Amino acid sequence: MRLIAANWKMNKGIHEAQEYIRKLLSLLKTTEDREILICPPFTALCELKNLLKETPIKLGAQNCYYKKSGAFTGEISPPMLKELNCEYIIVGHSERRHIFGEDDELINKKLIACLEEGLRPILCVGERLEERSAGMTFKVIETQLRLALSGIEDYTDSIDIAYEPVWAIGTGVPATPEDAVSVHRFIKDLIREINPSLKGDTRILYGGSVKPSNAPEFMKFEEIEGLLVGGASLEPESFAQIVYSF
Ligand code: PEP
Repeated sequence: MRLIAANWKMNKGIHEAQEYIRKLLSLLKTTEDREILICPPFTALCELKNLLKETPIKLGAQNCYYKKSGAFTGEISPPMLKELNCEYIIVGHSERRHIFGEDDELINKKLIACLEEGLRPILCVGERLEERSAGMTFKVIETQLRLALSGIEDYTDSIDIAYEPVWAIGTGVPATPEDAVSVHRFIKDLIREINPSLKGDTRILYGGSVKPSNAPEFMKFEEIEGLLVGGASLEPESFAQIVYSF
């Protein structure tokens, strides 16, 4: 089933989050054939845990630390997120990599910690503009994937992957659907090589300046198994349009 995920980033307090969810629920039509996920800031998770009970909308977190507990001021662990009914965790988002300096080794540890807790990670990978210009896109994606999945190759069915070219995030300039499809095919082939017994549960999502007007162009392709949406997920009306773009 395709997954349409909202990454609110550092937006919306509890009150705004409540209003958004009430509105989004009123806009939902059929939900059996698609998965809908909201990843709010940590501070709204507890409230949304209650609001989303017995609704088709799933809850996820935008980040986590890899230890279960301890002296790690300011961090949140996978068991804490599980208690809040999170089913998904975004790991390795480009803003975590490039603003907060997360490297592939840390991302690998976070993936392991999520899997140990039974949480489904959405692993983000993507090249920077200078890497794309230098013809390095596939090399960069391959390196990020091999390092992130190191030691957990057999668990790739329990992970979704978001291809998010860094230059497309928050810029209003998406990849062309055709370019995204070629990277998605590359990722699928690579994870099959990494895990030959792959059942095929790993979905490859596209993220980067998706909006209601371009979402149908992406979703036309079966290789695009979902979307990770930042800016355009902040209004329930535009997110609902993206949810029903296919
Ligand atoms: C994102 O943050 O994952 C993202 C894709 O952002 P945007 O849709 O705003 O480009």
